[in-house]
Amino acid sequence: MENVPTSTDPNEVTVLRRGTTPNGETPSGRRAVLAVDVGATKLAVGLVTSSGQALREMRSPNPGNAPAALESLVSMSAALLDRDPEVAGNLAGIGIACGGPLDIANGLVLSPPNLPDWDKVPLTQLFNELFGLPTYLDNDATAGALASYYWDNPGKVENLVYVTVSSGIGSGVILGGAPIGDRNGNGAELGHIPLIYDGRSCTCGLRGCAEAYVSGLSISRRFNEQSRMLLPEVPQSVMQEHETLTSAEIAARASRGEPRALAHWLESMSMLRRLLRAALDLYGPELLVVGGGVTEAPRELLAPALDIQTDGPLLSYLDRNAPEVRSTGFGRDSGVISAGAVAWRRLAGHPPSMAN
Ligand SMILES: [Zn+2]
Repeated sequence: MENVPTSTDPNEVTVLRRGTTPNGETPSGRRAVLAVDVGATKLAVGLVTSSGQALREMRSPNPGNAPAALESLVSMSAALLDRDPEVAGNLAGIGIACGGPLDIANGLVLSPPNLPDWDKVPLTQLFNELFGLPTYLDNDATAGALASYYWDNPGKVENLVYVTVSSGIGSGVILGGAPIGDRNGNGAELGHIPLIYDGRSCTCGLRGCAEAYVSGLSISRRFNEQSRMLLPEVPQSVMQEHETLTSAEIAARASRGEPRALAHWLESMSMLRRLLRAALDLYGPELLVVGGGVTEAPRELLAPALDIQTDGPLLSYLDRNAPEVRSTGFGRDSGVISAGAVAWRRLAGHPPSMAN
């Protein structure tokens, strides 16, 4: 581990989180896992306790290719552990969350649509060999569902759906207290449910998927395409510079009341609401939690997606209590806390303590 270079990327941020003492030291006796969140846009590592507290976290943009991203993840992990020697010497394991498809049993990433060059990357083996700790991999949305179930579940419900809306869209489902997935152990691919028959091309190769409309990248792409159509006389180079907005920038403009940004955002949230309804109709949970970068938008901008009865009552809930639909309580820590849950779930003798 001493040979791992320390990253000097100026975009990294180190933040002290809940559970740290005022001088930044870890409360003694606390055990943590190293949590690794592999996102298409953002990479994050953190130290997460068995009660779901992120002690320390470090993030960087995904450099866009697998070798550089792996180097960044490893160097950030090493730097994080260097700064917390007390926790580093007492780590329980490593949890990794990544978009699917994955070979979970063998710890491999299998060319996810948003990480196309991650072809059979042996992620768990790499971290296990470098850090000498038991290492576990799971789908990032299943990880989000697990973390929500353990630590963001004051009603202690047993049926929960977690939908992550970031670069892509994923979903994790817990029914009867157990995560469910496809036969390969991957999460539920809600993002590739068709919203519009024969609609826009999706990264998965099909057309009209929800992910092609309301993922962070798609909210941005659709807006920027519209900008180019509205202003055809502006040279592409100028347009690239001035009108290539991220979904967060579109949300900021919508928040300021810019009409076109606001209309685009509200349309996107209506589409997302229809997708969330599909998840409720499929699984009938008591609780649906949304997380991911898009859900970091101001509360009033997210509300149209979460107000699930806008389009009429849910058929599956006509004779029961309506489900609770809300954004994650983990905020920007959601990624690493989710990755932490992957490890705590598997570590024998250290079951996650559910929040009261
Ligand atoms: Zn698709």
